[in-house]
Amino acid sequence: MRNDDSLPPSPPSPSPESAGSADPDRHWFTRRSTLVVAAAALAPACLAGWVLTQTLTGAGSGSGEPAQAKPAAASRTAHGDAKPHAGAAATPSPAAPSPGPAKGPLAGRTVVVDPGHNAGNFQHGTEINRQVDIGTGRKECDTTGTTTNSGYMEAEFTWDVSQRLKTVLEAQGLKVVLTHHNDRPFGPCIDERARIGNEAAADAVVSVHADGVSAGNRGFHVILPAKVRGGGADTSKIVEPSRLLGERIAGNFARTTGTSPANYLGGGTGLDVRDDLGGLNLSTQPKVFVECGNMRDAKDAALLTSPQWRQKAAQGIADGIVGFLGG
Ligand code: ZN
Repeated sequence: MRNDDSLPPSPPSPSPESAGSADPDRHWFTRRSTLVVAAAALAPACLAGWVLTQTLTGAGSGSGEPAQAKPAAASRTAHGDAKPHAGAAATPSPAAPSPGPAKGPLAGRTVVVDPGHNAGNFQHGTEINRQVDIGTGRKECDTTGTTTNSGYMEAEFTWDVSQRLKTVLEAQGLKVVLTHHNDRPFGPCIDERARIGNEAAADAVVSVHADGVSAGNRGFHVILPAKVRGGGADTSKIVEPSRLLGERIAGNFARTTGTSPANYLGGGTGLDVRDDLGGLNLSTQPKVFVECGNMRDAKDAALLTSPQWRQKAAQGIADGIVGFLGG
């Protein structure tokens, strides 16, 4: 659920106002591009070509549009089960398919995937209600997450999608770190989840969730970190790249799943900004939460409980991450 960091399973209150506040930031890249183009146009004719070349080749590291140099789009299949071809001879990997060395912009990049909640949280109320420091305040260690009306748990959903996501990303040559392996009795706590992303120096972190609001509220949304500062929390450096990551994921998620942005917050953008989630506030790396749908709505639940749809969801999230990383 979207307030997994926060409320116990009481009905969350949609906060449509949060979407509007985000608009000004959204166009920073467009503005920057305009400036770059303008500068090139003003340069003396004899230098213009050089300036443009430098601009295109040198200044592109700042996370703007990817260079469309798709590294042998080898492995992107509808079901993320692509096998690496060739080059896989070197390092025998015990479990995962060895995708071969990544090339281009994905080489050496790390993604942390955070499967939201833990199915064991329901049996460990005391432990997960323990308060932890999130910089700007204190919050429960974790929450139970929600369920569909028929009892399919959000924690089961997030674990399944995270596994699929990991497979798709690894097939692209990315290193993937999970925040837990579904083998703990509960948790991890939200501060530990954030710390794992930070310590991995992750290039992108995605926390996978599904929402639990009243029926009729439908669709997905991506939660972006607000600018917060306090204690160990300082998101000033991640607000911008996290927004780019979130926009990429939202666009690709809509495309691969065919589902619409949430109709109950975000003004139809599929984006929401929050300042109350420890998992975001404590992150030093670009990070978003993806709320894949509303488990309490029967139509959304029919999607969320479908393995085929979950594969599409994982593919959409992966495509967004890869696009953000310039792959
Ligand atoms: Zn959740």
